[in-house]
Order: sequence, then C-alpha cells, then structure tokens
Amino acid sequence: MPTYTATGLTLLARKFKGSQRVVTFYTRERGKVEAVASGIGKPGSSLAGVVEPFALSRLFLVQGRDLDRLTQAQALEAFPQIPASLETYGYASWIAELTSGATEPGQASPDLFDFLLASVRALAAGEEGPLVAAAYALALLELLGVAPVLEECAVCREALAGPAFYQAAAGGLICAECRATGGGIAVGGGARGLLHGLRRVPPERLRGLKVRPEEAREALELVRRHLGYHLGLTLRSEEFLRQLSP
Ligand SMILES: [Zn+2]
Repeated sequence: MPTYTATGLTLLARKFKGSQRVVTFYTRERGKVEAVASGIGKPGSSLAGVVEPFALSRLFLVQGRDLDRLTQAQALEAFPQIPASLETYGYASWIAELTSGATEPGQASPDLFDFLLASVRALAAGEEGPLVAAAYALALLELLGVAPVLEECAVCREALAGPAFYQAAAGGLICAECRATGGGIAVGGGARGLLHGLRRVPPERLRGLKVRPEEAREALELVRRHLGYHLGLTLRSEEFLRQLSP
C-alpha cells in the first residue's frame, strides 16, 4: 500500500469502530483527506492530539481503498484559545464544516489551505468571529468560481451608484431597476463597504477594519445566503451560533 505525508489541519473527527476515529483533514498537498486513526483512547497514543479539531500536524498516512489510514502524526501547532471561548469555537467549527462540505478529496488548493490556516490563527488571536468567517467564506467562494458579484449590478452590469440589493439567483448585488423585476434584500452601504474590504484584507489584519457589529452580521448573513444557494450547504454549526446570539 502506498504511503504519503501531508501537512493538515484537523476539521472534524467522528467515532468509528471501537476506539477508532475517522478524521477529516484539510491538507496543503492533497486537499481534503479522510483517514482512520486507531488506538485514540490508549495511553501514549501519538494520534490523540491529531483528532482534536483545528490542530495543525504533519501526517503520515497509508493510502487505502476507501479510507486512508493515519499511522503517525507530529504536532506542529495547536490552538487552545479556540475551545476556550464558545463564540470562537462556534465560528471555527463553522469554517471547518464549510471547508469539509465544499471540497472533495484529492483536489489540492494550497491557496485555500493557506487562507484556512490564517483564518484559524486569526480566530485564535482574538479577531472577530463573524469577520473571519465572512472573509474566509468569500475567499473559498472565489476559489470555487462562485464568488458574489459585489462591484457592479450582477444583472445589467452597470456600476452600483444608488441602493443595492442582494439576490442569490442573480449571483450577487443588483441595482434598484433590476430589482423591480424580482425580489432581493436591501444591503446597506456599510455592509457593502465591508464586503469589499474583506476581499482585500488578509485574516490577520481584519482588526484594522472599522466595523460596526450590525454591519458584520449583515455581511455574514449575505455570505451565508450565497453559500446556501450556490453550494447547497446546510451547516450544523449555524444552529450553535444562533443559540449563542439569538
Ligand atoms: Zn441592474
């Protein structure tokens, strides 16, 4: 059986036969990897740390017919700050679930890996969860080729001078005239400016953006609608986040 190594961030782990776990990683070299890890509960297991979400590890794997097998792991970076705050944990889980749901095994994207790692580091450093989550989702949508149109009307392609509305089916923001022919949610100037900003600013520098909390929520809500419509994803962590801030 062929073996390989990869650097990966743990996204999710679920129970599997006995003390085994199936762990989903996002790796720099191979994109999403799902692997069985054995003997997790045993004392001295080198794999115990790896099944913790958001751990960054050097992974040693054996390729399998269905699932690969994790034979060894070397911890590179851990983020104990993330589970220490429910909100941070909620947004990190949202990012992990989104990554797992939107990617397929064997399709590597070093750019997405780098953005994911930078986003997890930013959350651990105390950056605002809604901003990090929205910026990450925009980067992911961009890499998948389904980013929302924000700079101009997605229907008539005119510059957006007046009020703007978001319409998922149109693929982004639309102008008032195009809206007359269909629905759409009004998007405030602050949230629009923020969405532009999120595309330009790396995760570790989001702190520099001047943002009102309601603008951050509005921007994230728009990104969520876009994800739901264009990727068809329903994320379980959304419910968790809703319970935190009703
Ligand atoms: Zn238009």
